[in-house]
This record gives sequence, C-alpha cells and structure tokens, in this order.
Amino acid sequence: MFGSAAIDCLILVFAFVLGVCLGSFLNVVVTRRPAGESMGGRSKCRSCGHQIRLRDNIPVISWLALGGKCRDCKAPISWRYPAIELTTGLIFVAIGAVLLAL
Ligand SMILES: [Zn+2]
Repeated sequence: MFGSAAIDCLILVFAFVLGVCLGSFLNVVVTRRPAGESMGGRSKCRSCGHQIRLRDNIPVISWLALGGKCRDCKAPISWRYPAIELTTGLIFVAIGAVLLAL
C-alpha cells in the first residue's frame, strides 16, 4: 500500500511532531525553572494569568493562529516559544533523515 518513500515521509512527520512537542516542554522548563515555578499544571498567560486553553496550546500552530497574542488579554506572546518548538522539530527531522539514509 505504501511505498518506502511514503513511509519515510510519515516517519519524518512523526519526528517533527515529536520534536515540536519536546520543544514545547523545553519552553516550559526554560520559562518556569528560573522563576522557581512548578513543572506541573497547565500553562498560564504571563501577562493576565488566564490558563491557556488546550486548543491554544498546540505547538507552533496556536501561536500562528493567535497572531502571537494571548486570546484573553491580547498581550504579545514571545516569538521565542514557536521558534524553540520549530527548531527542535527541525532538528528531529534532520536526525530522522540522517538515520533513514543509513
Ligand atoms: Zn493574557
């Protein structure tokens, strides 16, 4: 049903999704650790304190959909969050591509 190119493509898509999710977690770590905050619990807007809705917490996509602003208070959300998520996703794709080429 699938050619090997299609399977390779699916593997790279999976690697990207895994990478952006890890990048999202890295954002939590680099944001909360210095502030001495807990790693658990849902994310909150750094400006108004509203809890981030699940649909507004999808790596990269939500930041783009919201135009880089909080849904509640319209405060800007740093471009650093999607940049870290995207970078981690692309690193995972690069690693996956190298492994597939071996
Ligand atoms: Zn807000």
